[in-house]
Amino acid sequence: MNASHLFESRNYPVYIGPEAWDALNSYFSSCNYSKMFVLVDENSRALCLSLAVRKVPLLLSANVLQIKSGEQAKTVESCNKLWRMLMAEGADTRSVLVNLGGGVIADMGGFVAATFNRGIAFVNIPTTLLAQVDASVGSKVGVDFDGIKNQVGLFADPQAVFILPEFLSTLPQRHLLSGYAEMMKHAIIADPDYWSIILSQGFEPREGWEGLIRQSVGIKQKIVKFDPYERGLRKVLNFGHAIGHGVESYSLLHDVNPMLHGEAIAVGMICEAFISCKLCGLPEEELIQIVEFINMHFAIQPLSYEASMEVLEIIKHDKKSESGKYRMTLLPHIGKAIINQECTPDLIIDSLHFYVNSFDLVGLSC
Ligand code: NAD
Repeated sequence: MNASHLFESRNYPVYIGPEAWDALNSYFSSCNYSKMFVLVDENSRALCLSLAVRKVPLLLSANVLQIKSGEQAKTVESCNKLWRMLMAEGADTRSVLVNLGGGVIADMGGFVAATFNRGIAFVNIPTTLLAQVDASVGSKVGVDFDGIKNQVGLFADPQAVFILPEFLSTLPQRHLLSGYAEMMKHAIIADPDYWSIILSQGFEPREGWEGLIRQSVGIKQKIVKFDPYERGLRKVLNFGHAIGHGVESYSLLHDVNPMLHGEAIAVGMICEAFISCKLCGLPEEELIQIVEFINMHFAIQPLSYEASMEVLEIIKHDKKSESGKYRMTLLPHIGKAIINQECTPDLIIDSLHFYVNSFDLVGLSC
């Protein structure tokens, strides 16, 4: 195994690149699991499972559990079905669940495994860009509840994570862009050099995702290792998420074709960069750079005043706001993030107004 393809995580290895296939084969040969289960949705089943089985023949003996794709399926009801399937198929404490799919599969599969029989082993084989750079690492697992994102969940470590960028060849551009938003976030909060690379390379559906994935996973892992349970520093990863989750939850409730996670985080990053400019000195030229780059990749979503008020209400109940106060991660400059910054409701509404009008930045200075 090439050591450069391996990051030691909280307590588990993360393999990135084609060598991850060897790691997967060695892993399953060495672990004596009583039963193997593979969790998929209809897309990862159709587009990823046969490649996985071809490369890792032991997976042929696994029971396949399938759920419907999409965020709307990330619910306790889907977990009920999965727990029942595990029981019906005789899963026991020595079984393993292989999460083969995007962030929904990683979040929900991890939650189902961590709670079934007080916890069975699980591994992640993420097949979307978003899951490869973000959801499959960091050990947050859970489901949405009563219209609030990730309201029910826990921290649980996978045994290992195997990241194969070749799965991305079938991923639609809209989903690639959704993952790209989280990569922008990693750069903006922690690494100006990485941000420069992202700016200069621009987005194109590319063969060469591996290097960028490695940079993003490296940033996330460093932060998570320092603060695994999000007591402090890890909150820097929430930049764009206080408002982004509000917008995403709103869209899930009201839109026929709801926003994707990364699309909502892109909105959140524009809003929270605007607030950063107001409250903690993010230079205006950096705000403009962030806004222009995001708007080059994502269409601006219309948001009425009434919708903004509802988003505000959702944010208030999000677990990221503490004691009813609006707190978020803000930026004094690109490459540095500060946590727990208190923000007024009026400023959040202003930031959503700024976002809606941000295509033409002239005259919208902070
Ligand atoms: P997703 O799991 O819904 O996948 C997106 C779509 O891509 C789905 O339709 C899926 O079926 C399809 N798909 C999967 N692999 C494919 C492939 N190789 N080719 C073609 N289609 C494929 O969504 P996502 O964007 O991967 O993840 C979003 C979720 O991740 C959200 O629920 C979000 O809250 C969560 N998340 C979690 C964390 C964390 O730390 N736990 C971090 C970021 C995001």
